[in-house]
Amino acid sequence: MKTMIRNGLVLLYDGGVWRYEKKNILIDGNRISRMTEADISDGAEVIDASGKLVMPGIINAHTHAYMTIHRNYADDLPFFDWLDKVQKVEDGMTEEDVYWTTMLAIIEMLKTGTTCFVDMTIKSAKEPTGPLSAAAGAVNDSGIRAVISRGLAGVSDSEESITKFGQAVREMELFRDESRLQFIHGPHAPYSCMSDYLQKLTQSCRERNIGQTIHLSESLAEMDGIKKDRGMTPIQYVDSLGVFDVPVIAAHCVYATDEDIRIMRDRHVSVAINPKSNMKLGNGFAPADKFLEAGINVCLGTDGCGSNNCLNMFQEMNAAALVYKGSNRQAQCVGAADVLKMATVNGAKAIGREGELGTIKEGAIADMILIDLNQPQFIPANSIISGLVYSSNGSEVDTVLVDGRVLMKNRRLTTIDEEQVYGECRRIAERLSMTRSESI
Ligand SMILES: [Zn+2]
Repeated sequence: MKTMIRNGLVLLYDGGVWRYEKKNILIDGNRISRMTEADISDGAEVIDASGKLVMPGIINAHTHAYMTIHRNYADDLPFFDWLDKVQKVEDGMTEEDVYWTTMLAIIEMLKTGTTCFVDMTIKSAKEPTGPLSAAAGAVNDSGIRAVISRGLAGVSDSEESITKFGQAVREMELFRDESRLQFIHGPHAPYSCMSDYLQKLTQSCRERNIGQTIHLSESLAEMDGIKKDRGMTPIQYVDSLGVFDVPVIAAHCVYATDEDIRIMRDRHVSVAINPKSNMKLGNGFAPADKFLEAGINVCLGTDGCGSNNCLNMFQEMNAAALVYKGSNRQAQCVGAADVLKMATVNGAKAIGREGELGTIKEGAIADMILIDLNQPQFIPANSIISGLVYSSNGSEVDTVLVDGRVLMKNRRLTTIDEEQVYGECRRIAERLSMTRSESI
């Protein structure tokens, strides 16, 4: 199956610099086989990209897709009150609920240009097995790409935490040959996992040659608690347990100290910053400017809908580009080009797919999006890169391809029945008594 994206303005990243050029892109199977000015349609299905920007699909490096059920539910609460409220709902969720709420997340992500996401799915689900399979099922049925982990917590050496670990490993085995799915481990956080549980998961990563993702230094309460109990910061504590011996995506790192930054740089940890979630939960801002200065691979995530309350990476890019300027009172701090790199090139590096994803070039995998430039927010086209970060809202995403397959064309999804998903998710929220009559 061949597809040609004809006559688009293609966003390229070479030698640390963004630029764009008019090119025709020929896709053969799931990869870009040629990029040229010549007309090479050669029997391929043609997508006319005139007036559109062709850019790499966006990579959301930290989310909890099933948490779409929490959208607009537990708002304006301090961190641990918020966590308590969302976890109570999760105790009532089934494996099927995880499928539909993940599918809802995928709809929102595709419509706003995300083609790959790093997911930490539900810790607890009503049935004894299945959340990884449910999330993976939604990924498979929709055609999107994902790196999935099951959020695992174990504050005691309980049968439950051991059982969930065993289930996660068995579920990974079920899907290991799927090309668009990668699995990693997802220890939830240093305050919700005991030390030998963190070591056990790290050992399992080593055995499977996979990485892991973990929330680190997200709140001041976590920072103070771990320092009091362990005599070191959360980042130093997990490093002392060997957690960074395998590839790690550390989410948040809001309270990272200079010493923490040095450790993460030396241990090649990727950091997924989540500026909107951190602001909404009153946690502050991760020092992304210092991470970049240290040479850490900084990527970008939305976090879950419980704390954002959406999965729109254009909003997240905008927040990331603004928050450091405001908090440092420095207009040159964390520029649009840096943020665009976090959402594409750096996200690909974080999941071990550097050069294959997050970039458009011959030989790369054909995950790409077409942006309609004939919109007021892109006119005049003084800088399209600034436009993507400072004036876009995600609604300009017109067409989406993942693995060479068209998943959205002219804003119509090709693989998902949107109304069915919306209906199922409304029913789940009602069953869990989440929908309230408004009286705030
Ligand atoms: Zn999270």
